[in-house]
Amino acid sequence: MITGNTKKVGIIGWPVGHSLSPAMHNAAFAAAGLDYVYVPLAVQPGGLKEAVDGLRALGFIGANVTIPHKVEVMQYLDEIDRTARSVGAVNTIVVKEGKCIGYNTDAQGFVEALRQQSITVEGKQAVLFGAGGAARAVVAGLFDAGIKKMILGVRNPSKAEVLSKDFTGVSVFDWYDNAFVDTLAKADILINCTPLGMAPNLAETPPVVWQRLNRAAAVCDLIYNPPLTKFLAAAKQQGHVTLNGEGMLIGQGAVAFRLWTGRQPDISVMAYIFKKKLKK
Ligand code: NAP
Repeated sequence: MITGNTKKVGIIGWPVGHSLSPAMHNAAFAAAGLDYVYVPLAVQPGGLKEAVDGLRALGFIGANVTIPHKVEVMQYLDEIDRTARSVGAVNTIVVKEGKCIGYNTDAQGFVEALRQQSITVEGKQAVLFGAGGAARAVVAGLFDAGIKKMILGVRNPSKAEVLSKDFTGVSVFDWYDNAFVDTLAKADILINCTPLGMAPNLAETPPVVWQRLNRAAAVCDLIYNPPLTKFLAAAKQQGHVTLNGEGMLIGQGAVAFRLWTGRQPDISVMAYIFKKKLKK
């Protein structure tokens, strides 16, 4: 039951009706016996500053932040942690002693998803397709976790230059360039960070010369709908270990849950609710 003592968390976005986070977090709070509630907070563009001030005024202990507010929100916060600064986006706020502190849990969430599958990162090489917001989080998370080198294949290298300037150790190629195809032989992890293959565009995939990919490479897609993209299906057929975007979504939620509660959530409860809601 919600009472005056119930701790409040929310998700600020526009729209937020489709978000799976309220169901996932409320189930995890209940499973942990925590008197917390997680509510959708639909905030129109133009209303973000007031919404952040509102978190403080209404006694929220934190919030998630989603599209389209993840970058703009940074200017309204009191502190921003190092990873969120390098990603350039905040997806989680903790309100502590009246101060709003911004984090990016996508970065750590992706690494936790890899670890759940026993995919190691330290000293390895990753090859990514795409250089947008999700790719930045993956790059920051993998560097924090000790990856050695990252190579990005993109359709538009000039747009991705900023990412290679912001992170030492990242090189960017046109994904049709032979030099990029050559990098596949040394990849330990291959990651699709583009929306290619996401519903309803199921027939799309980034271009991979599967014969050139290191046989032992793990192949990941940040997309979770559908659970098996054309990209992952091809990887499976070649015998690679695969991981879809469900792990990252649940992983980012688990990191946020820990920031708000100091407790480890039951990941299996979050995964169960996630799958159930996604099917609807
Ligand atoms: P974004 O910021 O828009 O970046 C998309 C990237 O993909 C850019 O590099 C873009 O290249 C490239 N791209 C887009 N359409 C393309 C096309 N038709 N052909 C070739 N390249 C294309 O998007 P994002 O936020 O990074 O999200 C990327 C994917 O990750 C989405 O599918 C999203 O749902 C998923 N995601 C999953 C999670 C999770 O928790 N599992 C979290 C975040 C994102 P240009 O710069 O040339 O446009």
